[in-house]
Amino acid sequence: MQDVINKLVNALGPSKVITSTDVLRRYSRDFWPLLMMREQVFNEELPRPLAVIIPSSVNDVSTALRIINGGNDVVPVVVYGGGSSVTGASYSADSIIIDMSRLNKIISIDGRDLLITVEAGARLRDVEGKLNEMGYSLRHIPQSFNYATIGGLIATMSSGQYSTLYGNIEDIVVNLEVVLPNGEVTWLRSNNVPRASTGPSLKYLFIGSEGMLGIITKAVLRIVPLPTSTIYGAYRFDSFEQGIESLRELMIKRITPAVARLYDGNEATLRFGVDKPLLIISFEGYYDDLVKALWRRADEIVKGHGGEYVGSRYFEDWLRTRFNVEEEIEMVRRYGLWFDTIEVSTTWSRINQLYRDFRESLFRVNGVVGVMAHISHLYINGACIYFTVLFKPDVNTYWELWSRAMEITLRDGGSISHHHGIGIVRSRWLGHELGNAINILRAIKDALDNKGVLNTKNGMFFPD
Ligand SMILES: Cc1cc2nc3c(=O)[nH]c(=O)nc-3n(C[C@H](O)[C@H](O)[C@H](O)COP(=O)(O)OP(=O)(O)OC[C@H]3O[C@@H](n4cnc5c(N)ncnc54)[C@H](O)[C@@H]3O)c2cc1C
Repeated sequence: MQDVINKLVNALGPSKVITSTDVLRRYSRDFWPLLMMREQVFNEELPRPLAVIIPSSVNDVSTALRIINGGNDVVPVVVYGGGSSVTGASYSADSIIIDMSRLNKIISIDGRDLLITVEAGARLRDVEGKLNEMGYSLRHIPQSFNYATIGGLIATMSSGQYSTLYGNIEDIVVNLEVVLPNGEVTWLRSNNVPRASTGPSLKYLFIGSEGMLGIITKAVLRIVPLPTSTIYGAYRFDSFEQGIESLRELMIKRITPAVARLYDGNEATLRFGVDKPLLIISFEGYYDDLVKALWRRADEIVKGHGGEYVGSRYFEDWLRTRFNVEEEIEMVRRYGLWFDTIEVSTTWSRINQLYRDFRESLFRVNGVVGVMAHISHLYINGACIYFTVLFKPDVNTYWELWSRAMEITLRDGGSISHHHGIGIVRSRWLGHELGNAINILRAIKDALDNKGVLNTKNGMFFPD
């Protein structure tokens, strides 16, 4: 291992290969709640990575991977974007980290074809800020807006708060430049076009690959002009099921909201002080009359399912507090509790059953004190249910609640993750969801990375 680090220092220079304990400690966890609980509640010193490489060019990334891949012993590498993974996907014990933060340039913004080309280590917040100054937006706004990088968002197949109208990251990525585990640098297409029927689209290999198949170094993404017209408000329901029916009808009739978040009574109480299911919803576009027409139709549909209009205040409350991550964690700690979030997806016909079974099953876990949920990210055939689970801090409770959550979701025909990805926390259930197709994934991994260098210790193929 020391031999590899010496070669890296010789090739890249000492300022790009860091081994000082203080710096390594900063990389010893991502936002995986299990690691945060061990560090912040149990005061554990977490294992550190072996070294951190901070490349400042694609060439540096390529050189680093060539050296590491060429060594006799395999030293695992973990790609690190903003470190905001909540699944342990960027956890790096016994690995070398490649921190992408210096590859952060916006290369071009094309307002005619609505494309941006950007380096993968750029923070979403900075990219969106620049776009907004010029009258554009990605309209990809996850709650991790202030932390996440473009490469990390692509690698985890992320979803933003406006996904119902603008799509998820896979709908936004047009082209990628990647460095393969052997150091080879390649774009996945020679042109940036809206669609192409030229064999399987290779971008999908890397979207959601969680750093396992290659390092994304640049991305071409589609942008939109900033919307100029918006209407928002909120509705209260007597039952969660009524709210769900209204969302289904909106999606089928193509009255597509920009944001729609239906909170169950528990989460509505905690977040808004409303003790019934609450829907906050917005429509947006470029013409007031069209947006008003959508709003009028939506109002009819939602009221038709028992929704009672309760004004615009709750939507504004959400807008104001939606990135208050640290405050939320602090509140849970104050009650002597810990938490995790588990976002799953399913079809409309199964959604009520999954919601009920999930809550019932998790409440049976010793130490679980709260299970609440909201529905967001809507599709014509279903939606994401985002559960928040509160529990007394304990590692056994943690794994027991995750086992139940994954098993009940699979049993009820849902997907184990809508947008947080697999990481370490879900790795043992990935095979259950993919069935025999997991062998295709393994074969691709072996073909691209036969030595198992990239994200092998912390990701989808984490040894159980
Ligand atoms: C408070 C909070 C809120 C969140 N909200 C959302 C949300 O609304 N929607 C959502 O989808 N997710 C959300 N997430 C989780 C989500 O996975 C991350 O925010 C984001 O997608 C990861 O970006 P990152 O740059 O921090 O990646 P990291 O955590 O650094 O990395 C995540 C994974 O991607 C890999 N990776 C990173 N960069 C690259 C690259 N350039 N090339 C190849 N692989 C790479 C890493 O190795 C790792 O496997 C949230 C997380 C937090 C902490």
